[in-house]
Amino acid sequence: MRFVLLGPPGAGKGTQAQILAKDLGLPQIATGDILRAALKEQTPLGKKAESYMNAGQLVPNEVVVGIIAERLKGADCREGFILDGFPRSVPQAEALDEILTQLGIRLDAVLSMSIDEKAVVERLAGRRICRSCQASYHVVFYPAEQENVCDKCGGELYQRDDDREETILNRLKVYADSTAPLIDYYSRKGLLQEVDGQGEISDITKALKAALGVG
Ligand code: ADP
Ligand code: ADP
Ligand code: ZN
Repeated sequence: MRFVLLGPPGAGKGTQAQILAKDLGLPQIATGDILRAALKEQTPLGKKAESYMNAGQLVPNEVVVGIIAERLKGADCREGFILDGFPRSVPQAEALDEILTQLGIRLDAVLSMSIDEKAVVERLAGRRICRSCQASYHVVFYPAEQENVCDKCGGELYQRDDDREETILNRLKVYADSTAPLIDYYSRKGLLQEVDGQGEISDITKALKAALGVG
């Protein structure tokens, strides 16, 4: 199964992608996670992405499209994959179409997770991320068992630089301008399914699985 999780920052893409990856045995491919890992290592890619990420802007297409083109060739993607945070604009979606055509495969679904703006700010302001495995927590809604320690790997939890209110508002604008048009793009292709991103995490997982026909 090959599908995309689409939605504004804070919609729960990362949280759900991680659960679905485990349940369905598919790799979670998150451009944000890949870019943050490159930034941490201060690779040329990470240095190039840093200023865009900290400002809440999209990293240039050639950077992320290159990452995805390489990643999708991986042996672990043969049976399927979950794209989390890519594509984020119509040009990226067109580039993805080309990559998939070259690989002789196609998407099965695009799941659009909706959430209102107030909830986004509340979620992102309380988000904590694991430095080692990038698992996502929330200080109130989804706390780790032990404060600041990842339940999954024991790594240290931290607050992302871009999860500050001014940057959050900028990222919401980028979503509205560049990413939201993908809802129309994928509806036209008959791939879009809308899922409510608000509610209990486990209920949302159920709704996503139902939309994928695996529930
Ligand atoms: P995204 O990857 O779409 O930016 P995340 O999965 O990182 O979103 O979730 C954003 C924040 O909201 C995290 O702190 C996460 O723990 C929390 N969260 C995710 N799903 C829910 C939910 N259904 N209810 C409340 N909080 C949630
Ligand atoms: P969120 O979980 O809040 O949706 P991500 O972790 O997916 O955020 O992305 C963090 C940042 O990484 C984005 O604000 C952007 O700067 C960069 N980024 C991630 N994915 C892409 C992409 N597909 N295209 C361009 N930039 C991206
Ligand atoms: Zn961890």
